[in-house]
Amino acid sequence: MYDIEEVRKDFPILGREVYGRPLVYLDNAATVQKPRCVVEAMADEYYNVNANVHRGVHFLSQQATELHEAARETVRRFLNARSTAEVVFTRGTTESINLVASCFGEAFMREGDEVIVSEMEHHANIVSWQLVQARKGIRLRVIPMNDRGELLLDEYEKLFNGRTRIVSVTHVSNVLGTVNPVRRMIETAHAHGVPVLVDGAQSAPHMAVDVQALDCDFFAFSGHKVYGPTGIGVLYGKESWLDRLPPYMGGGEMIGHVSFDHTTFAGLPLKFEAGTPDYVASTGLARALDYVSRLGMDRIQAHERELTRYALKRLRRIPDMRILGEAEEHDAVVSFLVGNIHHLDMGTLLDRLGIAVRTGHHCAEPLMRRLGVEGTVRASFGLYNTMAEVDALAEGVERVAKMF
Ligand code: PMP
Repeated sequence: MYDIEEVRKDFPILGREVYGRPLVYLDNAATVQKPRCVVEAMADEYYNVNANVHRGVHFLSQQATELHEAARETVRRFLNARSTAEVVFTRGTTESINLVASCFGEAFMREGDEVIVSEMEHHANIVSWQLVQARKGIRLRVIPMNDRGELLLDEYEKLFNGRTRIVSVTHVSNVLGTVNPVRRMIETAHAHGVPVLVDGAQSAPHMAVDVQALDCDFFAFSGHKVYGPTGIGVLYGKESWLDRLPPYMGGGEMIGHVSFDHTTFAGLPLKFEAGTPDYVASTGLARALDYVSRLGMDRIQAHERELTRYALKRLRRIPDMRILGEAEEHDAVVSFLVGNIHHLDMGTLLDRLGIAVRTGHHCAEPLMRRLGVEGTVRASFGLYNTMAEVDALAEGVERVAKMF
């Protein structure tokens, strides 16, 4: 195991106090804190290298381009993609999913065609497809789940028919913590000749992801949830698919040649990267991926699973506790409600104890409806959280519960 106290020193913000109490940061599913090396790499690039990338003849532009493209190679390695042509930089998971929905919808979907999503999707993976629905008259089919928060694979199989064009499903639920059996789900889809987009926003930060082993066709994640900067994310796509999709946005960077009569597009991955990319954020992201890789994704996962198991055990002892999400395969996220205490009251009072959790619908309103709740309190863990912080959470929840 890595030395957690040493690791915490890499994150200056964790030493902060709020309301005169030590910060207990348990809102990692929303965004994680940044290690010093990420911020320093970005500051260094702004101070010493900054210049627009690609096509620059001058020294700084070439150096910035090298850093940007080296970052792409770091992402390729992190995901075990075959080639950097398959790594598209976006603004985050949301943009990555919108890109696929929009371009795939444009090229391969007609009225009456179907996309399969699940009951536990984030709005990013629902609304993107609804936009295609509005444009092209496609249908969304929804994989149901059981009360533990596990997808019903038999029902999933039954959703396939001659109109199914794509499956778009989350790897890990940002509300329930359920780890979906995406490898198996991809096999099923491929047996029907249907490609799969995996929303990896909540998996990439917590486990080793190998896109070739998964055999997913697309994989999306956000930099800011994997210890990198905000404003950058990744879309992995198999070259064979990306090649066949039309561009997403038009502009500089994504073209071959332009005339008023005829324009050609750049090859992969630049075809999908119109405009000046956030080349400083890509450096920060690469540094973050190096950081977690050095700690070891398997060790991070083992540590966070231990925190999750312990949190579930501690919270279950509290009277009137309702845990939402009891899946066998459970990652780094714990959602709960206590008696009829409103999630917002619980969150606000925990905050006064220095404990940052998230409350509300977590951008998953259809899932809230399925669970029959308006919102939940969500504690989510990162590589730097400790057992003592889980104790603080449980004691805080007990204290708030007694007040009501
Ligand atoms: N999907 C899931 C499962 C998420 O948890 C999130 C972030 N809460 C997103 C998509 C969207 O990520 P972003 O806001 O970084 O684009």
